[in-house]
Amino acid sequence: MTAYMDHKDLANEIIDETRSTEIRDGVHRVLDDIAQAESAAGRAAGSVRLLAATKTRDVGEIMAAIDAGVRMIGENRPQEVLAKADGMRRLCAQRGLTLGVDGSADAAAAAATADTIPFHLIGQLQANKISKVLPYVGTIESVDGLELAVRISRRAVAHGITVGVLLEVNESGEESKSGCDPAAAVDLAQQIATLDGLRLEGLMTIGAHVDDEPTIRACFAHLRETRDAILASKAAGTEHCTELSMGMTHDMKLAIAEGSTIVRVGTAIFGARAFI
Ligand SMILES: *Cc1c(COP(=O)(O)O)cnc(C)c1O
Repeated sequence: MTAYMDHKDLANEIIDETRSTEIRDGVHRVLDDIAQAESAAGRAAGSVRLLAATKTRDVGEIMAAIDAGVRMIGENRPQEVLAKADGMRRLCAQRGLTLGVDGSADAAAAAATADTIPFHLIGQLQANKISKVLPYVGTIESVDGLELAVRISRRAVAHGITVGVLLEVNESGEESKSGCDPAAAVDLAQQIATLDGLRLEGLMTIGAHVDDEPTIRACFAHLRETRDAILASKAAGTEHCTELSMGMTHDMKLAIAEGSTIVRVGTAIFGARAFI
């Protein structure tokens, strides 16, 4: 159990007006920034989806973001998923919305309906936590190798469900980052695409932790080229590998310029994190 979870009641549902206004303004600002970046890059309006990265935020804060227009949620840690999911589901249901897979056998089909809020896992997943998150999250973005993919596949088959996965690629090569070697990504994606119970939906990366724009953009561009190579291969099961989950608060615009389809944003919506 991580220390910050002892400080904060993640299941809390009540936040004050000031805080909810702050979050609403944050969501609107980010949605405007996305629209501007799409237009600046000559991309269609709505081609980039906003995922709210909700680690350390409580249920009340996340619901404020949903009320302001957020339609995709990403958590980093299985224990945070478990602490918040039931409250979030109940409050979503009150609004006519469904969070995550909610018992649906086919995550992708559920996510395609307008009143479903896709629920993604975006942080590292230990094999022994897979079964805990599968009843809630429809897509796991942090699949960094064949071993984890095989384990998720086995669990999905045992549960009789289909789980969306993104292959996480360590484009920056920074040692602190998870993700597979970029040179192995096409081959790995092709192998993962053949596994039962999985649907390979695309690729994910965390941007280079540098100040240099060309370096950041080159990493994002390489992820796009990798995705295009996977699609062009027409290998079995790769036909849904369309998503590029890249871009966070500080590098979102560069990621959109390089073809991002999902930006994962926390700080620009909720403010700076108190912990981690
Ligand atoms: C926290 C987090 C984000 C969002 O980062 P911000 O800088 O707060 O926008 C995106 N992706 C992952 C994997 C994260 O853990």
